[in-house]
Amino acid sequence: MVFKSGYVSIAGRPNVGKSTLLNEIIGQKIAIVTPKAQTTRNSITGIKTVPDAQIIFIDTPGIHKPLHKLGEIMVKNAFGSLKDVDVVIYVTLPVMPKSFDVDTVRKVMNSSKKCILAINKVDTVKKAILLPVIGKYAEMFSFAEIVPISALSGEGIDALVDTVKKYLPEGPQLYPDDMASDQMEKFLAAEIIREKVFLYTKEEIPHSVTVEVLRWNENDSESVVKVEANIYVERESQKGIIIGSGGSMLKKIGSAARMEIERVFGAQFYLSLWVKTKKDWRENVSFLREIGFK
Ligand code: GDP
Ligand code: MG
Repeated sequence: MVFKSGYVSIAGRPNVGKSTLLNEIIGQKIAIVTPKAQTTRNSITGIKTVPDAQIIFIDTPGIHKPLHKLGEIMVKNAFGSLKDVDVVIYVTLPVMPKSFDVDTVRKVMNSSKKCILAINKVDTVKKAILLPVIGKYAEMFSFAEIVPISALSGEGIDALVDTVKKYLPEGPQLYPDDMASDQMEKFLAAEIIREKVFLYTKEEIPHSVTVEVLRWNENDSESVVKVEANIYVERESQKGIIIGSGGSMLKKIGSAARMEIERVFGAQFYLSLWVKTKKDWRENVSFLREIGFK
């Protein structure tokens, strides 16, 4: 038996379902999924181990027009990460390619070794719509393969994994079997907290927020894991919104985040949240580096 292993990047525009796809393949929540665009900031690695292969997935942030320093770093990371991987899965929607897609797809194909097109959300269209879309993509670009999928229903996911395997090089297993993600627990907890801020606050608040988990205390003699995190905002006025009157908003965010963290990690947690103002942090390169954006 030939064993294969390699790195795979999932690329595509915001909201096409990249995080949902990764979670569906790995079978465990590792990248946050919300109806709002641009929620995935860092590259998140998920690992899929099957009897004859190990696939290491990298979920890239959506490729978009950068609006600020953080945006620039995100886009640079998105294309940069493609060069180092064996296979790129470009995720798109079951609609005819638009000029934006043409441009992005060309760039993605130029910066990757092998590119597989995954047409996602096929549960939302009829075959009669889907088939000409597949035909158009096949005619316009030279993808290694085109696989229609639904990350939500699971349709086509096994076929996609098999297709990816086909293009991986022969190689050893690089990570233990039971390791679904090499992402730090702290990062995942921070993402969950940020997701709750997204859910409960509106308009300009979400994108002005970043979360850093400062302390993660797991003590054998105690059954509760103590986690302390900072929620950073850009302006003093935003701080008030996140805290809410009498701390009501922060309480809501904290308890929703705690419940989800408990569900994901399967343990009891004590979560302390602090809200801090870091003026224009999205433009502050040294702060961005400090919280993990390189
Ligand atoms: P990302 O920005 O590319 O990572 O997209 P997400 O994974 O966050 O998904 C964006 C939205 O599309 C979420 O509301 C998902 O539930 C939804 N979505 C993802 N995949 C599918 C799918 O196959 N079918 C349908 N109907 N919705 C999907
Ligand atoms: Mg995402």
